[in-house]
Amino acid sequence: MNSKIWLSSPHMGGKEIDFINDAFDGNWLAPLGPNVDGLESDLQTFVGNNVHIGALSSGTAALHLGLILLGVQAGDEVICQSMTFSASANPIVYLGATPVFIDSEPETWNMSPRFLEEAIVGRMAKGKKPKAIIPVHLYGMPANMREIMTIADKFGIPVLEDAAEALGSSINGKMCGSFGEIAVLSFNGNKIITTSGGGALVSGKKEYVDKARFLATQARDPAPHYQHSHIGYNYRMSNICAGIGRGQMIVLPERIAQRRAIYQKYSEKLSSWPGISFVTEPQGYFSNRWLTTIVIDPEQSGGINRETLRCQFEKDNIESRPLWKPMHMQPIFKGTPFYGDGTAERFFENGLCLPSGSNLTDAEMTRIFNVLDAVWQNASVKAQ
Ligand SMILES: *Cc1c(COP(=O)(O)O)cnc(C)c1O
Repeated sequence: MNSKIWLSSPHMGGKEIDFINDAFDGNWLAPLGPNVDGLESDLQTFVGNNVHIGALSSGTAALHLGLILLGVQAGDEVICQSMTFSASANPIVYLGATPVFIDSEPETWNMSPRFLEEAIVGRMAKGKKPKAIIPVHLYGMPANMREIMTIADKFGIPVLEDAAEALGSSINGKMCGSFGEIAVLSFNGNKIITTSGGGALVSGKKEYVDKARFLATQARDPAPHYQHSHIGYNYRMSNICAGIGRGQMIVLPERIAQRRAIYQKYSEKLSSWPGISFVTEPQGYFSNRWLTTIVIDPEQSGGINRETLRCQFEKDNIESRPLWKPMHMQPIFKGTPFYGDGTAERFFENGLCLPSGSNLTDAEMTRIFNVLDAVWQNASVKAQ
């Protein structure tokens, strides 16, 4: 059996272990410590000096706290992009609120501004003004933030930007994570950089980040004994995990360049193949290309669909994966309000994420290309 090729696996730079050793030498094994402060400041330098950063235990924790900071309560409605990972939507339900799902636009595959506006107007007509809007920068491609922010401002609804997959992506030089009232990052094991598990809450408003840190450390009031006037959480990042993150921040620009180079290789090989298309960067957009994704149109590919290809990859021990199944199609969200025209559904039916790790070797790329060649050759032979 060939060795496994992963969709996206952790890729250490080498310096991570030094930061972890520092933590051991200083006995900073309890949560918090110099690596956490260091990671927050590295991230701030990277995302922009106009933002503040609180390192947390996960991106999901950051979304949960973000919604709390925006005042979301039981019975409220929160607008969320439908095509995304479930972690974008679950924290809405943690709070007893209801998600309202929005379809994708064809250009970026992210939240459709048109259906966003339609949903806000529709919910308001029903007497419920949504409390927040959660757009997502899927696979690293920025959402249409210019139009989304314009609509959000027009109705006075705050944006909670899910930038979990988009560290290093930008629009006209403005970094993803700096558009929303609050944004979240993730450093889960499969993301562009990892702390083995972790996330961050980002905001231009220091009060939000201070409050997030307070809630994330069990909401202790200032007193010698344990005194609480809020419900707290155990959501802070450990100093060990942050040490991994500090090492990863050193190689982040290199990781982005590597992911983009992988996209480039796929795109050079496959762009002209019948039935294959990619999501391309609109003018001014920069994607970190966390994952390279394709859409296969079986009517043009000689009958090949994404399952044909995924199963052939699997036979060769190569991991690929359908795009995120939209939330409005998930059993758990059956009956939840949805505004759209079937765009995300079509992407899900026909889309596939290709192996995109920054540590892919040339030999592994060749194995991947061999499978693609074989599948398409087979189809054209049958078609003749
Ligand atoms: C990974 C991810 C999250 C959750 O981050 P965790 O750190 O795994 O909790 C949220 N939203 C999106 C879009 C993600 O890809």
